[in-house]
Amino acid sequence: MKAAKIKYLRAASIDEAIQQTLDNDGPKYMAGGQSMMPMMNLRLAMPGTVIEISDIPALRESRHVDGMLFVGACTTHASIEDGKLEDVARGYLQHVAGGIAYRAVRNRGTVGGSLVHSDPAADWPSALLALGAVAVLVSPEGRRNVPLADFQTGLMETCLGEREILEGVLLPVLSDKARWGYTKFCRKNGEFSHSIGAVVIDPANGLANAVVGAASDRPRLLVRVSALLASGLPAAEVGKPAFEDAIAKDLADVTDHAPDSYEYHLHKTMVTRAITEALKK
Ligand SMILES: Cc1cc2nc3c(=O)[nH]c(=O)nc-3n(C[C@H](O)[C@H](O)[C@H](O)COP(=O)(O)OP(=O)(O)OC[C@H]3O[C@@H](n4cnc5c(N)ncnc54)[C@H](O)[C@@H]3O)c2cc1C
Repeated sequence: MKAAKIKYLRAASIDEAIQQTLDNDGPKYMAGGQSMMPMMNLRLAMPGTVIEISDIPALRESRHVDGMLFVGACTTHASIEDGKLEDVARGYLQHVAGGIAYRAVRNRGTVGGSLVHSDPAADWPSALLALGAVAVLVSPEGRRNVPLADFQTGLMETCLGEREILEGVLLPVLSDKARWGYTKFCRKNGEFSHSIGAVVIDPANGLANAVVGAASDRPRLLVRVSALLASGLPAAEVGKPAFEDAIAKDLADVTDHAPDSYEYHLHKTMVTRAITEALKK
């Protein structure tokens, strides 16, 4: 199938993009088009007006803001993979970016597009939730910051208002004591994951987050396991009764999969591997 007829506009600034949504019918922003174009071709998305935002300089820049790194929404996966973004997460971002799909998708696909598309099996929503990122949103009413934990509200749903644009994300600058692990399982390279385990521990930033992705409508923080990590869980305790109890209760809270199912075992394995990877660093 091919996309339905659309009006196509390119915005040169955030203000112009927002104005174009006010002046045109059925507006939708497009960044890398890697999720939008397939959905338009399948006619699952039929916007009246597509507003291309990928050339807006403010959405491509990165800068330090109040001790955090602001990363513009239109930063591509490839530019992070190639080390063009300052490495404030000690290799974590580069590792995640390099594992997304394949290079052609990474060349065009953007961090912001991935977060707004909010596929529960996508990489950035899980990875940046574990990192404690904050989304920066702009609308005609002004700018607001939303912790990533509150940004995605359900299956491919976010708290973005109709005219609102994701300007970027604020990332903590990890200390030299920070440790992370990121594991995912796909049957074929370049496919979306069947499960993701994302773990970031950095006491200097108050971070001890274990996240499971692709297990429910959105990436979920495993609160009991995260509390164990915050209390300084040693690697030797992974798999011991306190850990097993915490992960079983957390998975029961965030997935509908039965404990004897393949999916449950897969999610438990991905999270456990990510924790083991982090604790060995
Ligand atoms: C074959 C294939 C394999 C893939 N595999 C993976 C994978 O393994 N892991 C993974 O994480 N992803 C994967 N993807 C998705 C890819 O990472 C996309 O880049 C990403 O999901 C969307 O980013 P985009 O910039 O292309 O967004 P677009 O497709 O342009 O937009 C997606 C949505 O976000 C909205 N949007 C975009 N930017 C903004 C903004 N700044 N403000 C407000 N709204 C905005 C658009 O209106 C649209 O609704 C895959 C894609 C393909 C085609």
